[in-house]
Amino acid sequence: MGLMSGKKGIIFGVANDKSIAWGVAQQLRAAGAELAFTYLNEPLERRVRPLAESLDSTIILPCDVQNEDEMVAVFSELEKQWGEIDFVVHAIAFANREDLKRPFSQTSRDGFRLALDVSAYSLVSMTRCALPVLRKGGSIVTMTYLGSVRTVPAYNVMGVAKAALESSVRYLAAELGEQGIRVNAVSAGPIRTLAAAGIADFKKKLSVAVERAPLKRLVSQEEVGKATLYLLSDLASGVTGEVHYVDGGFNIAAG
Ligand code: NAD
Repeated sequence: MGLMSGKKGIIFGVANDKSIAWGVAQQLRAAGAELAFTYLNEPLERRVRPLAESLDSTIILPCDVQNEDEMVAVFSELEKQWGEIDFVVHAIAFANREDLKRPFSQTSRDGFRLALDVSAYSLVSMTRCALPVLRKGGSIVTMTYLGSVRTVPAYNVMGVAKAALESSVRYLAAELGEQGIRVNAVSAGPIRTLAAAGIADFKKKLSVAVERAPLKRLVSQEEVGKATLYLLSDLASGVTGEVHYVDGGFNIAAG
């Protein structure tokens, strides 16, 4: 019997086999969970479908988080097929590349709205849509980054979006605790993914992480997956509203 045997849940945010969400999915499946997946658009469906099928998933649905109808449709399909779910993984972020390149003060209004909408508000709307099917004792985990609480070169508007995301985690946790639903964030160290490719000088972040993190190395998708598994499982039944760092200890180092 695995830690997640008999549990069912959905993962938002797989784009390819480098995605953090994919690292999470593999750990959850290895622990016995049944998984549903979403993909952003048709080109990504071609990547996501075979990955999802390799973990025996049959519920693979489109969802642009800016489209409320698609989000509602995802959870009503889950209700139809499964009745109830045990967990939701939110591993989604987006900002215009131009807005990440400019000095922060030059962030466009539209770019600010877009980054906050896709990367932070989506957790709120996803939670709202999930509530009718999320069972008591259910768990939600999102992915964040240190740029929320410290300035990180070139992270700019995404740092503001992550601050909003982490605050949303706390407000959702405070609201949903009475229903036995837990909401937490995992703050990962830098990992080479599609989203990371949009951040200027990302290579430098990798080398600084290796140099300054107490563990003197980068973290992997697998390690983020294992910490997420813990937060989604009953091992973390007393944990909510937290931002849990999986960054080799980088966040504690001051220089
Ligand atoms: P990724 O590119 O593999 O995943 C990002 C996902 O967001 C993709 O699947 C993409 O399709 C999805 N997405 C973007 N806009 C969307 C929309 N409108 N609707 C639905 N989905 C949308 O990159 P990743 O690094 O695995 O990112 C996953 C999460 O981890 C993000 O929240 C990211 O900020 C966070 N994170 C990444 C790192 C890192 O260094 N890679 C570090 C800390 C946190």
